Amino acid sequence: MTSDVTLSCSCGALSAKLLNVRPQHGFHASCDCDDCHATNNHHGVHDPKDTAIDLYQTSPSNLKILSGGENLSVLRLHKSGGLLRWYAKCCDTPMYNTMASPKLPVVGVVASNVDNPEALGPVRAQGFVKKDGKTTHKNMVGMLSRMIGRMARERISGRWRDTPFFDASTMEPVVTPYTLTADERTAAYQPR
Ligand SMILES: [Zn+2]
Ligand SMILES: [Zn+2]
Repeated sequence: MTSDVTLSCSCGALSAKLLNVRPQHGFHASCDCDDCHATNNHHGVHDPKDTAIDLYQTSPSNLKILSGGENLSVLRLHKSGGLLRWYAKCCDTPMYNTMASPKLPVVGVVASNVDNPEALGPVRAQGFVKKDGKTTHKNMVGMLSRMIGRMARERISGRWRDTPFFDASTMEPVVTPYTLTADERTAAYQPR
């Protein structure tokens, strides 16, 4: 069984196709970490605190931009680095998370942008679950082992070079990342 799914930003200008949506190629998980919520806050996305952000993790070579690629933009929450958080600048929609190097080929696709999220299957892992004042994880080991296996196969096959996020010859992101200012960071992490 395999299926391709389409996704787009909220205004529809930036659209993409996800190939090979099946358990061997991707992992549906949710994340409740402060960084994911801060990203939503920064973009002014409705983000209930008790609702984790659904992500579909796959290889960047499975993601093909269909339209509006000129709207693809990227930010960093912290000066020190961290994930690249890609968004659609046409309508300020968070879209993807990647590592800072194409040699770590993994992308987290924000599942709420997918046209038919049921195609992603059930959520199989949860990160940063807050319960009774503690933070726990569910099946993170399963998620990480799948992620490492996928990244290794991408590296060995050379498919890691096939990515919409980086120029594989220079290793640089296709758009220069914007780092939040201290004020923007304070606003983004403000408890609600
Ligand atoms: Zn848009
Ligand atoms: Zn997160």
